[in-house]
Amino acid sequence: MTDPHDLSAILNPLNEAQREAVTAPLGPMLVLAGAGSGKTRVLTHRIVWLIQAQDASPHGILAVTFTNKAAGEMRGRVEQLLGIPGGGLWIGTFHGIAHRLLRLHWREAGLPQGFQILDSEDQQRLIKKLIKAQNLDENRWVPREVQWFINSNKDEGHRPASLKDNNDPTRHQLIKLYAEYETACARAGVVDFAELLLRAFEVWRDNASLLAHYRRRFRHVLIDEFQDTNAIQYAWMKLLVGSEGYPFAVGDDDQSIYRWRGARVENLQQFRRDFPTSKLYRLEQNYRSTGAILAAANGLISNNTGRLGKNLWTSGERGDPIRLYAAFNERDEAEFVSHRIRDWVAHGGQRREIAILYRSNAQSRVFEEAFMSGRIPYKVYGGLRFFERAEIKDALAYLRLVSNRNDDQSFERVVNLPTRGIGAKSLDTVREYAKGAGSSLWDAAAACISGQGSLGPKAASALSGFMQLIERLAHEVSQLVLHEKVDHVLQGSGLIEHYKKDKQDRGEARVENLDELVSAARGFTPEGVESELPPLEAFLAHAVLESGEGQADAWEDCVQMMTLHTAKGLEFPMVFLCGMEDGLFPHQRSLNDIDGLEEERRLCYVGMTRAMKQLFLTYAEQRRLHGVDSYGMQSRFIKEVPDDLIEEIRPRIQVTRPVAVSRLRSEESAAPGMRLGGRVRHRKFGEGVILNFEGNGSTARVEVNFEHQGSKWMMVEYLEPM
Ligand code: ATP
Ligand code: MG
Repeated sequence: MTDPHDLSAILNPLNEAQREAVTAPLGPMLVLAGAGSGKTRVLTHRIVWLIQAQDASPHGILAVTFTNKAAGEMRGRVEQLLGIPGGGLWIGTFHGIAHRLLRLHWREAGLPQGFQILDSEDQQRLIKKLIKAQNLDENRWVPREVQWFINSNKDEGHRPASLKDNNDPTRHQLIKLYAEYETACARAGVVDFAELLLRAFEVWRDNASLLAHYRRRFRHVLIDEFQDTNAIQYAWMKLLVGSEGYPFAVGDDDQSIYRWRGARVENLQQFRRDFPTSKLYRLEQNYRSTGAILAAANGLISNNTGRLGKNLWTSGERGDPIRLYAAFNERDEAEFVSHRIRDWVAHGGQRREIAILYRSNAQSRVFEEAFMSGRIPYKVYGGLRFFERAEIKDALAYLRLVSNRNDDQSFERVVNLPTRGIGAKSLDTVREYAKGAGSSLWDAAAACISGQGSLGPKAASALSGFMQLIERLAHEVSQLVLHEKVDHVLQGSGLIEHYKKDKQDRGEARVENLDELVSAARGFTPEGVESELPPLEAFLAHAVLESGEGQADAWEDCVQMMTLHTAKGLEFPMVFLCGMEDGLFPHQRSLNDIDGLEEERRLCYVGMTRAMKQLFLTYAEQRRLHGVDSYGMQSRFIKEVPDDLIEEIRPRIQVTRPVAVSRLRSEESAAPGMRLGGRVRHRKFGEGVILNFEGNGSTARVEVNFEHQGSKWMMVEYLEPM
């Protein structure tokens, strides 16, 4: 039955404990183990073992990963081990898999066939509109908070009807908004991210035969990063597994970092209770990091309480110490990182081996600027991504309307873009009508044009022009291939013209981005669930679900930038943890909250354990973020790393900053525009950062750390502040 040669390919690259887990008899299993101990490797090899040694059909396996990137890597690895394409396998994120189910069973799920996905920004805009429509005060009913209320209830599996207001008027109003939001989504045929999960759960819960079908099909359910599952994901898994399936969960309680988004680390223990026959496996050898990095991470995390406890060790070398850099300010920090990147590359390293990790997205900008001016290619994961840019969303709104007229969000977005004389008042009339009739804006507009409602003749004709345009575009593109469709809609919509005329507001860049959208469509190959959809719907779903990953130029050798949350599960030879200041990391919000602080510490643990060979911690004594200056204290997490593992790096040239100066550092300047830590330019030496100064006024001398020339003392008159 089995080919021993193939099995050795699966089993040889494993240690004893890993092999035991991979070849364990069928039954519920939990692998609880620390960072870099091979959990993901075990899960991947288990899939192949099930197929090769247990004759499991690839169709009978469902594997859940945390990001689309991880899913792609896992699929690739499985195919490589199997030696055949693993097309039948369902590997994806919870959201991706839920989406796939709902596409297949839209009818049972009570959704329109062409339902669209509402991203977080669209969701917030819709909620804002509902708040306004109720004449509620936005200062009291903050859209972001209402959004949080709705999403966290969905994450817990609660619909408005099942929520009790406990005679609390605030809660009463929130529940009411949640209910209205649901109605609006249903009318527009859209679902948000949390809805994908809840709906996928309900469609099984409420359809016995459908559930029975999937239970028969997916006997093997494997879940990575189990510590970050939320209530609805757990319930969904349990429902699918039933009493006959084989759940295989792997996780690490020390890496639970999504509590704020509803993740429940308790699910690890809940799993043991719900599957009392489950076997527990532990892996203790770390294969990723040097001894020093592992010891630093272990030292840090030992400050947390209530851990499930693990003993993680490595047989690898101790390696370099952890390097700590105290920057004057955020620009100096970015310069330091740039230097180190150049050194790495000069010594034969690749840029893609380097990760810049930070707590908050906004920190990326200064690095981006430094990298751009230093010509260091980089890629930002997360943050404002291509598919989230305004012009791209405009274009997508047209495409979505072409595909589904009832998409109210898209209707609102482009009905008067480019301007065609449809004013706020006419739109109000349409909205009112839609509300009264319980219809979509599109249907309401049609009714208003045909004389119902109180639309003036001019507005009616403008609106009718818009609707004819959409109908015409839909007709014209029906026979075109995807990228021609996108191109045609962009041209026909007038968006390209509109942005071409826009001379000030980055019009040119926007047109370039729109062109890029056509290229994106041309290069688009649907994968997984998307391959079962018509191309345009597949592309639109892709745009919402996968923005940020697989961003342009994935092939180029570039430095990887991302938030700590995004870095989970990944590994890099060289890692920079930047912005290690109390208030930034740990985050301000968590400073007075023990649970919050422990979650931040786990996040720091995740960050440190991404590093294989070199780990840098950097902080700035002065930082401008969101336009505000702050003077940060070194992060407490730095102090929690054993001293003997850390080597402090002074700015490039060994200067000990005079105490008096460092105290005055931020208030005093050597000359106008010349503060310590400020940037200056020299005609010959280029750009640099001021490290020190003496004297003042015209006799002042400053010490500048030049990017390429190192540190020099000079008169201020030769320098130009930047
Ligand atoms: P994380 O907690 O960060 O998700 P993990 O436990 O999933 O980590 P993996 O990513 O599976 O760990 O493995 C970490 C690294 O160690 C990878 O580069 C992997 O290829 C390597 N590795 C795992 N097991 C072995 C082994 N037995 N021999 C050699 N290398 C291994
Ligand atoms: Mg992993």
